[in-house]
This record gives sequence, C-alpha cells and structure tokens, in this order.
Amino acid sequence: MDRAQQKKLELLCPSVQWRANMAAYSSLRAGGAVEAMVEVTDCAILPQLLHWLEQEKLCWQILGGGSNILFTSGLHRGVFIRLKGGLKDITHRQSPERPDEHLVEVGAGVSVALLLAWCLRRRLGGLEFMAGIPGTVGGAVAMNAGAFGGTVSDRLVMVHCLNAAGRFVTVPATDIVFQYRTAIFPPQCTAAFIITRTVFAMWPTSAESIGQRMREIIAQRKAKQPGGVASAGSFFKNPPGDYAGRLIEQAGLKGYTLGQAMVSAKHGNFIVNKGRASPEEILALKRYIQERVHACSGIMLEPEVRIY
Ligand SMILES: Cc1cc2nc3c(=O)[nH]c(=O)nc-3n(C[C@H](O)[C@H](O)[C@H](O)COP(=O)(O)OP(=O)(O)OC[C@H]3O[C@@H](n4cnc5c(N)ncnc54)[C@H](O)[C@@H]3O)c2cc1C
Repeated sequence: MDRAQQKKLELLCPSVQWRANMAAYSSLRAGGAVEAMVEVTDCAILPQLLHWLEQEKLCWQILGGGSNILFTSGLHRGVFIRLKGGLKDITHRQSPERPDEHLVEVGAGVSVALLLAWCLRRRLGGLEFMAGIPGTVGGAVAMNAGAFGGTVSDRLVMVHCLNAAGRFVTVPATDIVFQYRTAIFPPQCTAAFIITRTVFAMWPTSAESIGQRMREIIAQRKAKQPGGVASAGSFFKNPPGDYAGRLIEQAGLKGYTLGQAMVSAKHGNFIVNKGRASPEEILALKRYIQERVHACSGIMLEPEVRIY
C-alpha cells in the first residue's frame, strides 16, 4: 500500500492498525503480521470501504473470531476486516407464515456465545447445539459450523451479504449450497463477499430446557476436548464414515509434540499451541499427522482449519 492509500484508509477507518500481529486474532495464537487490520462495528462503512479496496486493487479478507484460521508467517499484504457486534445487533419478530416460529436477525459480528445467551433470556430454542462453538455468527455461517447433531444450515432462513462490488445482496438459505464445514454462495455474492446479517428460525422453548441442553453439551465438550489451551478446535475434517480424531489416535499420535505444537493428549484432532508455536511448527505437525494417518489407514486427512 502506498502512502496515499494508507492516508485514504485512515480516513475511511480511523481505527486502522498497521502491521497488526495476527497471533492476537487467532485462537491458535500464532501467525505473522497483516499490513492493515480494521475492526468494524457498523456495517454502514463497508460498501465504501470495499468499493475503494476493489478500485485500488488491494487484497482484503474478512475475519470473524479467528477460531478456525491458521495465519502463516511473514507479512500478509492488504487489509483484514474484522466484524464485531453487540446486543443491539440482535432483533426478532414472529414469522408471518408460522405463528409458532420466531425469526431472529443477528449481525454477523455478534459472537455465538452472546447470541446463545440472548436466546436463553428470550426463551427461544433451536441453536443449543452451538453451545461452546467459539467465534462469530458470520464465521459460523461461512463454515456451516455444527456439533452434536446440528448444523447452522438447519436453522438458517436468510443471509444478508455485501459483495465485492460493495452491493448488498439478500440470499435465501435455500440458494446456498451447504456442505460439511462449507457454504457455497450463489454468483451474485461474487467470489469474495462479507456476510453482514443472518436470520435464523427459532421457536419458544422453556429456559430450563434450553439451559439444560446447553449444559449437557458444554459438559460433553469439557470431557472430550482440551480446555484453556490455544487451538482451532478440530484441525481436520472427519472423513466420510469415520473420525479424524480416531484415525490420529490409531496412528499413535495423541500427545505427539513437534517443537511447541502438540497433538492434544485428550482429543487427537486438536492441534494445540503449547505457548510459542510458530505457524511453521503447526504446519509441519499437520503434514506429519497427514503422512502418518495415510500410512496407517490409507486416508488423507483434509484440514478443516483455513490456512491463510
Ligand atoms: C475450542 C474450539 C472448539 C470448536 N468447536 C467447533 C465445533 O464444535 N463445530 C464447528 O463447526 N467448529 C468448531 N470450532 C471451529 C470454529 O469455532 C468455527 O468454525 C467457527 O464457526 C468459526 O467462526 P469465526 O468467527 O471464528 O470464523 P473465523 O475463524 O474468523 O473465519 C473462518 C472462515 O469464515 C470466514 N468468515 C468469517 N466471518 C465471515 C463473514 N462475516 N462473512 C464471510 N465470511 C466470513 C473467514 O473468512 C474464514 O474463511 C471450534 C474451534 C475451537 C477453537
């Protein structure tokens, strides 16, 4: 980015951070730097920002909670846009078609945890399966996040996006192709786009029932997954009909350490940063796991974590 571009970006986004350390924005706590990082709480500035970035041919990436991303080392050129949201970004109304259904509209930068706390207070059920999934609602839709028998696509009604031309597009969930930990959006969203708001269908449920289901899920997570450590959750996708964690354990890799990167001793599919793991160490461990699992089972594991 040249000086004039830097000045323009500072005008558009006064809180821009230069050479931001990406380890601070990733739950894996590793990564290089990004040329510019902007945190956006009001989506109204996005059309102008995207339009300018595209006009100047500057690369940009959208980031949520960073709980499913491994940033590689070095300096990442361009601008990372990070959405942030709060309670005022959640609204709900009764469905015009089904009186027992409520349509909950939520800003993409709102954290899943905040949305679930809101649902519990409003006694609206349907998203309990997401208890314990870190990150933002936008990230959960982009990843088609899921757990404990549910996926985001089950409850999604509508998504509002901003395409690379800076135009807002409303996409019914039925126009999105949802696959395992991926959502393929229709062409009007363009190749690069930002999910700004989402609408979920939910229904009145007792607070006791919602709370109990969430507590059960959190307890199961605590029993099976490492807590209080830097990770990106499941590192690899489960291959059809099997579990990546089972295959990694079968290959004898639970607890295996490479530098500061380690296969969790509790859950084989969690790569944990023991403190100062570099992206190279994490990537080397990823490759080693893939090789060993392939040698033992003939299956090549595919990362679920997005590598930037
Ligand atoms: C301890 C732990 C447990 C986890 N458990 C689960 C689990 O049970 N199930 C599960 O599915 N995942 C799980 N994950 C992975 C991760 O939390 C989810 O994938 C989460 O939904 C990612 O959200 P995020 O906001 O952090 O997205 P990020 O990691 O920031 O981004 C992920 C991808 O989504 C894109 N994206 C983010 N926001 C937007 C947006 N507004 N518009 C367009 N694209 C966007 C990014 O560009 C990126 O490609 C876990 C992770 C951790 C650390």
